[in-house]
Amino acid sequence: LSLLFSSFVSAQTTVPLYKNKNASIESRIEDLLKRMTIEEKILQMNQWTYGKNANANNIEASMKAVRPEIGSLIYRSINPVYKNQIQRKAMEQSRLGIPILMGFDVIHGYRTIFPIPLAQACSWNTDLVKDACSVAAKESKLSGVDWTFSPMVDVARDARWGRVAEGYGEDPYANAMFAVASIKGYQGNKLSDPYSIAACIKHYIGYSLSEGGRDYRYADVSAQTMWETFMPPYEAGVKAGAATLMSSFNDISGIPASANPYTLTEILKKRWKHDGFVVSDWGSVENLIPQGFAKDKKEAAWLSFMSGVEMDMVDNIYVEHLPQLVKEKKIPMSKIDEAVRRILRIKFRLGLFEQPYVVELPENERYYQPESMHIAEQLAAESMVLLKNNKQTLPVNKSVKRIALIGPMVKDSINIMGSWEGQGVPEAVETIYEGFEKEFNGKASLHYAKGCAFEGSDESGFEEAVNTAMQSDVIIVCIGEMKKWSGENASRSTIALPVIQERLVSALKKTGKPIVLILSNGRPLELGNLENLSDAILEIWQPGIAGGSAVAGMVSGRLNPSGKLAITFPLTTGQIPTYYNMRQSARPKLGGYQDIPTEPKYVFGYGLSYTSFTYGDVKLSATRFSKNQKITASVEVTNSGAMDGKETLLWFIADPVASITRPMKELKFFEKKELKTGERKIFTFEIDPMRDLSFPDANGMRRLESGDYYLIVNGQKIKFELID
Ligand code: BGC
Repeated sequence: LSLLFSSFVSAQTTVPLYKNKNASIESRIEDLLKRMTIEEKILQMNQWTYGKNANANNIEASMKAVRPEIGSLIYRSINPVYKNQIQRKAMEQSRLGIPILMGFDVIHGYRTIFPIPLAQACSWNTDLVKDACSVAAKESKLSGVDWTFSPMVDVARDARWGRVAEGYGEDPYANAMFAVASIKGYQGNKLSDPYSIAACIKHYIGYSLSEGGRDYRYADVSAQTMWETFMPPYEAGVKAGAATLMSSFNDISGIPASANPYTLTEILKKRWKHDGFVVSDWGSVENLIPQGFAKDKKEAAWLSFMSGVEMDMVDNIYVEHLPQLVKEKKIPMSKIDEAVRRILRIKFRLGLFEQPYVVELPENERYYQPESMHIAEQLAAESMVLLKNNKQTLPVNKSVKRIALIGPMVKDSINIMGSWEGQGVPEAVETIYEGFEKEFNGKASLHYAKGCAFEGSDESGFEEAVNTAMQSDVIIVCIGEMKKWSGENASRSTIALPVIQERLVSALKKTGKPIVLILSNGRPLELGNLENLSDAILEIWQPGIAGGSAVAGMVSGRLNPSGKLAITFPLTTGQIPTYYNMRQSARPKLGGYQDIPTEPKYVFGYGLSYTSFTYGDVKLSATRFSKNQKITASVEVTNSGAMDGKETLLWFIADPVASITRPMKELKFFEKKELKTGERKIFTFEIDPMRDLSFPDANGMRRLESGDYYLIVNGQKIKFELID
């Protein structure tokens, strides 16, 4: 026994500190760092990829290519077996057994696909978005993913830019709130929770301002705009504990965001004290060469690394060049250590050293749990925005017995998921048609015709569509964008739909039947004539896996629309940029266009309901108060219509005169509440001067100035005064 005991003790004492789960993370990091060679350290900064073609058949070949010491792997084809094979290689074949961090773009769901983020923002329901991200995290984790490249919080005001689909719309505060919600959803209470994955806020920073909405182009971001518009969601995300950030492709006033010491080190690490790490965007280190900032790969590696990018996504450029740069003393060893420390910190926090592997569960235990499907339908429903509803065309009357379902989106199960559909599969999608079958079973008959494709000029299907419509009581036309029309590298010079789709609706109009337009798209659209051709318009975005049933529920009246636009619909593409919080300007009455109105078609915050809400007078607990006082604004809202519903209040503040000119108004708070018919609820907003009335200067320092302000909510505008 004593022999056994002593060998037990000696085994205990030889376990290195970094493997001791009871030791503090910081001491484990230092212990591990001391044991690592420079080559091992630099490999931690490498994110490797198999490329797009890795699949079950070439795992063997791919496996051979993986260096067991790499820091991270970004992979496209994942399953638990595959993950475990790779991880085993890292744990067993590397000298120190450091687990690989497995990254994947989980943007709006892993298998259970939720609406695109732009749609999610229109729900104004941060709890629901958090729940959706928790589902995504759990499904990902069970499949072998530790890290998602989400959320994207680039405030987006140019609908030509394809990536508007991936973020939370045009407002900085909304992006900040959804950033926080999604980070909490992905990361859970702590990273080491069994179903938490690390979040990555991207694309830091200014990417959405790419000139003319062309992806990857130069972004002219002034320091003032950067602080007012682009920084708030990143700052909020960092405060919420986001493990990582991704540096973007664009440059900021001539300094690329992936080699920018000001944003990456001065702000992120020093001012905000972020202690996780930054990964470059895909190839954005090497891209410094075409950008004209680095003469070769070695210089690119040096510039990015020195600015504060700790991990190099897929270039292999750090692995190739950092060792030499250290030898030449162009990079101090302490800086290498600091970068590795940050990467290891996230691995330790995730508990990867304790749990490098994933339990190999069968697919049906990993995805589509009933609760997840429920969240998917609820979020799809709450994201939908009723743009028009003449003469209460929607919900359809009980007397409607024959429903025509027309258009290329009716039976679509691919485009309706939107871009970045994770591991979503079309077979799991409930199409609009299937949703209607379930919803109207025994109540109305369905009559389908595709009518036309999403694009092209083939009108041969019009006749059948018109005949089908002729025999129906109402025409539901489902049109919109293909998934490849939005997302990355999917910018468009016009945000109008292809002419063929409008021609189809024109043809249907001739039947004289009521027309309900169901629009599925990844960006705001220029509606043009579609607006006049239809009696009702429901914007469903790309609603994901449960979209069909949500749309059908909206049409039948089982569900009541409650979404409000998180991004403005311009009247025409030429109005871009147009957004609600444009700056005050000289000659405000002039400065529009000669040929079109200046007002957009549907502004930020717009959205109808089947019920009506009546507002009382907005009350302020004080209208003159000092900077260290907080005051409460409140308003009573009554559901005065005949249907239960949800109402979102968007609270804005306007600062008419300031030492730096201000936007016309800015969103400061929002809240969504459910109101049964006849029910009254008080909505309140506590105004905290430092948080809600101050604004940043070009260095990000906040100014709080005395003077007059306005509180604006649902058309009411109340003046108040801040005194010293
Ligand atoms: C995109 C990122 C994405 C990355 C990894 C890049 O091209 O810009 O948003 O996370 O690829 O797939």
